[in-house]
Amino acid sequence: MSLAGRHVVITGATGGLGSAFARAFAEAGAHVGLGYFGPVTAAEALAGELQALKVRAVPLAADVTSPDEVRSMFERADAELGPIDVLVNNAGLDGKRAPAWEIALEDWRAPLEVNLFGAFACAREALRRMVPRKAGVIVNVSSVHDVVPWGGHSAYAASKAGLAMLTKTLALEAAEFGVRVLAVAPGAIRTPINEDVWATAEGRRDLQRKIAMGRVGEPAEVADLVVSLAGDAGGYVTGTTVYIDGGLCLYPEFRHGG
Ligand code: NAD
Repeated sequence: MSLAGRHVVITGATGGLGSAFARAFAEAGAHVGLGYFGPVTAAEALAGELQALKVRAVPLAADVTSPDEVRSMFERADAELGPIDVLVNNAGLDGKRAPAWEIALEDWRAPLEVNLFGAFACAREALRRMVPRKAGVIVNVSSVHDVVPWGGHSAYAASKAGLAMLTKTLALEAAEFGVRVLAVAPGAIRTPINEDVWATAEGRRDLQRKIAMGRVGEPAEVADLVVSLAGDAGGYVTGTTVYIDGGLCLYPEFRHGG
């Protein structure tokens, strides 16, 4: 898969999925902007690793909930990477777990701010650059919880469901300008966000029951899909969400009827 010379910005690039995306794009020959939040150390280490693949890799600080920080992240990407070809809106958090009647409003708002508002703020900056150039791809990282309700995480589920409609609407607005906007919806993938589940025997048993293929996914599997959709192989894909969940959405409890 060649994305040689393309310029890709990935938010949350030091996380479990984000770092897999960065590696996969770099292996495909793309130059990568590594959006990060917090200390620069992990982003610098990842940049060093990717530079060994003879691509440019630039750490880009930004809290995606801050429009000013998002704007300056894109300005730095323009200056240090080049015109953006691909944005991967990957930064996300699942937030505090609590039923609706117990959660504080500011805790409920946090996943919305990052997963939906943050994704929009980044998409807006990317589209301001892609639409005039009549080229570009935005991949939003959603979740199976855009269709599967998740007890204790109503804000996360609502944010990802909102991201699905945001994806469709931005895709509609941008299509005539040659810009594609799509989403991928992973199921349970082995990353720090859900380590509390896959790291225990009980959690693994629970996941096996919930996933038709009986295993969690690996970040590299999602990364291969994202790179493929962002490249020419995905050239006719826009406005849709592609699920990568090992059959989590297939109601595995009904495998033998019922
Ligand atoms: P992760 O916790 O390893 O990574 C999340 C990243 O988002 C981190 O790098 C973090 O710094 C960044 N982030 C959080 N708040 C931010 C902010 N305000 N500004 C900028 N960056 C911020 O988790 P992950 O599993 O790699 O998750 C990546 C994406 O994949 C998320 O959107 C998540 O909802 C989605 N997802 C993950 C799974 C899974 O099973 N791992 C499943 C479905 C969807």
